[in-house]
Amino acid sequence: MRIGLFGGSFDPVHMGHLLAASESADRLELDEVHFVTAARPPHKRPVASAEARHEMVVLATAADTRFRSSRLELDYPGPTFTVNTLRRARRLWPAVELFFITGGDAYRDLASWREPEALVALAQMVAVSRPGYDLLRIDPFFRERVLTLEIPGYDISSTEIRRRIAAGRSVRYLVPYEVEVYIAKHQLYRAD
Ligand code: ATP
Ligand code: MG
Repeated sequence: MRIGLFGGSFDPVHMGHLLAASESADRLELDEVHFVTAARPPHKRPVASAEARHEMVVLATAADTRFRSSRLELDYPGPTFTVNTLRRARRLWPAVELFFITGGDAYRDLASWREPEALVALAQMVAVSRPGYDLLRIDPFFRERVLTLEIPGYDISSTEIRRRIAAGRSVRYLVPYEVEVYIAKHQLYRAD
C-alpha cells in the first residue's frame, strides 16, 4: 500500500491542488491521496473556518476513487506541524509506504519546517512543480532528500481565488463546481 498525504490550508481547495494530487498519484503509483486540511497552519491565518475548508475538500475529492479527505490535522489541538502529522500517520499505518506531497514553493525555506531531519525520515517528501516557482530554488538540505516531480500546472492560488471573490469576479473552472456553489451558499471570501 502506497499512501500520499497532501497537506494544505485549502482556503479554498482549487484545480491546481486536484491536478497536483492526481499527477502525483499517477507518477508515484499511489493507491490513495489523502487531502489533509491544516487546522491551524503555523505560517498564516486562514480566512474560512477549518470545518468549512474541510467540507470543501470533501466535496472536491468525492468523485475520485483515489482521493480521500482527511481529518488527521483537524481533530488535534495546537498548531499544525507536518512532522507531528507524519508521526500520527506512521502510528496509524505502520506498514504503509508514506509520501508527503507539497508544491515546490514549500521547500524554499528550511526554517519554516519543524524537525526537518525527523520529517524526511518519516516519509518520502515530494515536491511538485508549481507555475511561478522554480523547483531548483529548493533549500540545499531538502534538495538531496526531496523527490521532485515536473507536472503540468495551473497558475492559480487560493489567494487569487479569494481576491476574485472579494472583487465579485467569477472563479468558474478554477475550483470544482461543488466548491463554487458551497462558497456562494456560505458567502465565503466576500468583501462585504
Ligand atoms: P494560498 O494562496 O492561500 O497560500 P495555495 O494556493 O498556495 O493557497 P495551499 O493550501 O497553501 O494553497 O497549498 C497546499 C499545497 O498545494 C502546497 O503544498 C502548495 O505548494 C500546493 N499548491 C497550491 N497551488 C498549487 C498549484 N497551482 N500547483 C501545484 N501545487 C500547488
Ligand atoms: Mg500556499
